[in-house]
Amino acid sequence: MFLGGGRLCALRAVCTCTDLGDDPGVQPSAEIICVGDELLAGDTLDTNSADIARFLRLWGVTVRRAVSVADGEAAIVGALEDALGADLCVVTGGLGPTGDDLTAAAVASAAGVDRVRSPAAIEAITARLAARGHACDEVQLRQAEVPAGATIVDNPIGIAPGFALDLRGTLVVCLPGVPTEVRAMLEGLASLLRARLGDALGPRPRRILRVFGLREGDLAGRLEPIFAALGLEAAGAVVHYRARGPEIEVTIDVGGAPSALVDAAISRAREALGDAVYGLGEADLAARVVAALIAAELRVASAESCTGGRVAAAITGIAGSSACFHGAIVAYDNGVKSGVLGVDEAILAEHGAVSEPVARAMAEGVRVALAGHADIGVGITGIAGPGGGSPAKPVGTVDFAVSDGERTTHRRLHLRGDRSTIQAHATAWALWLVWERLRERGLAEVTELAELA
Ligand code: ATP
Repeated sequence: MFLGGGRLCALRAVCTCTDLGDDPGVQPSAEIICVGDELLAGDTLDTNSADIARFLRLWGVTVRRAVSVADGEAAIVGALEDALGADLCVVTGGLGPTGDDLTAAAVASAAGVDRVRSPAAIEAITARLAARGHACDEVQLRQAEVPAGATIVDNPIGIAPGFALDLRGTLVVCLPGVPTEVRAMLEGLASLLRARLGDALGPRPRRILRVFGLREGDLAGRLEPIFAALGLEAAGAVVHYRARGPEIEVTIDVGGAPSALVDAAISRAREALGDAVYGLGEADLAARVVAALIAAELRVASAESCTGGRVAAAITGIAGSSACFHGAIVAYDNGVKSGVLGVDEAILAEHGAVSEPVARAMAEGVRVALAGHADIGVGITGIAGPGGGSPAKPVGTVDFAVSDGERTTHRRLHLRGDRSTIQAHATAWALWLVWERLRERGLAEVTELAELA
C-alpha cells in the first residue's frame, strides 16, 4: 500500500487500531521521537518536533511528549515502548541507507515482525533516483526495507520514503530526518490521520491577540482580571502567553467557551491594551508591516548598523515583500555611514555613531542612497555588546529613526540581553517603529490576519 500526495488510503485495513473517535471530548494524543546522535550532542537543533507539533495542533492532536534518542536500536525501541498508549507516534530520522540508520529495524523489532523490501518503496526510490539521473543500487535499496505490514508514506522531495505501522494500538509513522522532507511529508501524515481518526480530528479553535512592547507579567496582570470577570476560563477556554522578545502572543484556546464570550474577552482586552495590540491571528509583526506597506503602496529600506541586516532579513522573510521592500545598507563602519549614507562626519565626531542625529541621518540617507526608491527609511545604530559600552551609552543602547519624507521620528531604547538577543529585539523594535508611523498616518490597522503564505 502506498500513501501520500493527498491520496487517502484505507489504513484501518492494515491497523488493528483502537477506535479514537468515540469520545468527542478527548483529544487524540501523540508522541514524537527524534532519532539522531547529532541531536543529543547539541550539533543539530531539533526543529522537526516543533514542525510536527505545530502541524498536529492544527489537527487537534495533543502532543504529550517529544523526545530525542540516540542512533541505536535499543534506544529507539525503548522510546517506542514508552509511546505506547498514545494514539499516534511520529518518528523522524534514521531512515537513510547508512549503517547507523536503524529506525526501520527498531520498529520491526518492537512490532515483532521481519523487515521486507516493499515494492512500493522500491518503485518510489528508483523513480526519485532516476529523476536525478542516478541508477538505483543495493545501498539505496536498503531504504526500501520496512517492517512487514507497513504502509509506505510518500516522500515528495527526498529518496527515503516514510512508513506507518500499527504498534499495539498506536499508529507509528516514521519520517526521514531532513527537516524539509519532514515538512513536505506532512500532507501524507494528514492523510493517515484522516483515515485513522476520522471525525475525532479537527482543528482546535484558538484566537490570538498580538501585543508589542509590554512585559509579559504586566500584560497578564492587566488581562487576567478581565478574563476572570468574564468567566472565560471557567467557561472552558485556556489562555497562554508567549513572549518572543518584545512581541507577545496571547492565545485563547477556545475549548468549550462560547464564541460570543471569547469575542467579548478580546474586545475588552483590546480596550485595556490600546495601541499595544497590533493584530489578531497567526500573522506576526513582520507580516503585518509587510501587508500594511503593500496595501499603502509604500516601499521601505533599512540602514542598519548593530542589526547587521536583520531588519532586511525579517522583511524579506515574508513572501511577497518585494512589493514593499527596496533594499538595505549595512552601514557597520562609520566610513559606510558617511560615504554611502551621507551621514555628516562632523555629526559622527560630535555625537558618536550611536546617537539620535546619526540614526536620523541614516534613516534619511538610505532613502537618498537608494536613488529615492524608498518611501520610508529606517536607521538603526546601537551597541550590541558585549564590548563597546560606556556609562553614557551602555551595551544595549540603540537609536532608531524612521523617515518618510514628511517627518523623521526617533527613539532611543536600552535593550537587555546578550549580543544576539539585543540584535533580535532591536530588529523587532525597528519593525514596530515602522508600524507606529504607518498607524499615525492611518495606514496600519488591527485586523484578523492568518499567516502569510
Ligand atoms: P538521510 O537519508 O539523510 O540519512 P535520515 O532519515 O537517516 O536521512 P538523519 O540522517 O537522521 O535522517 O538526518 C538527516 C539530516 O537531518 C541531518 O542533517 C540531521 O542533522 C537532520 N535532522 C535529523 N533530525 C532532525 C531534527 N529532529 N531536527 C532538525 N534536523 C534534523
